[in-house]
Amino acid sequence: MSKIAFIGLGNMGGPMAGNLVKAGRSVAGFDLVAASCAAAKGDGVSIAGSAVEAVADAKVIVTMLPAGNHVLAVWNEILPRIAKGALIIDCSTIDVGSSIRAHALAAKHEIASVDAPVSGGTGGAKAATLTFMAGGAPAAFEAAKPVLELMGKKIVHCGGPGAGQAAKICNNMILGISMIAVSEAFTLAEKLGLSHQALFDVASTSSGQCWSLTSYCPVPGPVPTSPANNDYKPGFAAALMLKDLKLSQEAAKAAGAATPLGAHAEEIYAAFADAGHGGTDFSGIINYLRGQAGE
Ligand code: NAD
Repeated sequence: MSKIAFIGLGNMGGPMAGNLVKAGRSVAGFDLVAASCAAAKGDGVSIAGSAVEAVADAKVIVTMLPAGNHVLAVWNEILPRIAKGALIIDCSTIDVGSSIRAHALAAKHEIASVDAPVSGGTGGAKAATLTFMAGGAPAAFEAAKPVLELMGKKIVHCGGPGAGQAAKICNNMILGISMIAVSEAFTLAEKLGLSHQALFDVASTSSGQCWSLTSYCPVPGPVPTSPANNDYKPGFAAALMLKDLKLSQEAAKAAGAATPLGAHAEEIYAAFADAGHGGTDFSGIINYLRGQAGE
């Protein structure tokens, strides 16, 4: 079966590349960090000396990198070296503008391209249960789908170039705002003498119901698997939530959309990260809100 190249073997990319190997594919990987390469090698990924070396003879190339500037730099480097007829998929979460520029670069080199950011976190990356939200031409999406299915369980075609990134940042803006809303409700309930369980039992079956409450409850107890039961270890780090809220605010400004709660959520997560909690799970925002009382 044809070779897959995987550039960016970090917390997400490493296990995703490992799942491609588990599915029987030959994977050549590259990362700037030696420890990430060593971990991926342990999962059966053959490590190349450079990104250019990794993409030689690959029919599918996947990138999983921190931000738009990294994706554009790597795509600029590798696109001239990729065989015509190959497909390139970016699974990183990046700004919509950079994603559209990356698609245009690929088109210039006559390479089909898809943006396919993910939700599901490192747990989903390890278990191959990620959700992919994809943007790109229909034919490129159809070519990418069987590869994405080896790393995830739900693949949604959201539209043309950049549409996957747009869906990702809109979804995560809902998540950031709703986590703050649920945390504020628990903070108020505590002051009013209402137990966590009582609020959960009512709101989880009433109009306050949402994922931040029922799957990721920010207080220990009602949802035993939520990070609140594990000292707010991520999970999904507050720094990554802040990154996504910044991306949605950049996009809102560029597109002229009014998102006042998204803007406020960004400020609150920025203050939380500035206070040294960027590595805490994002549901730990409840502890920050408790600390704001009376100020
Ligand atoms: P990470 O920092 O662990 O991994 C990124 C990797 O890219 C690093 O290992 C880094 O060395 C590598 N890299 C950077 N520049 C490179 C280059 N020029 N060539 C080769 N490798 C290079 O980050 P992560 O948690 O794996 O996240 C990756 C992407 O997925 C980000 O865009 C993030 O926002 C997104 N994401 C992360 C999560 C999560 O829970 N961690 C969830 C959803 C989406």
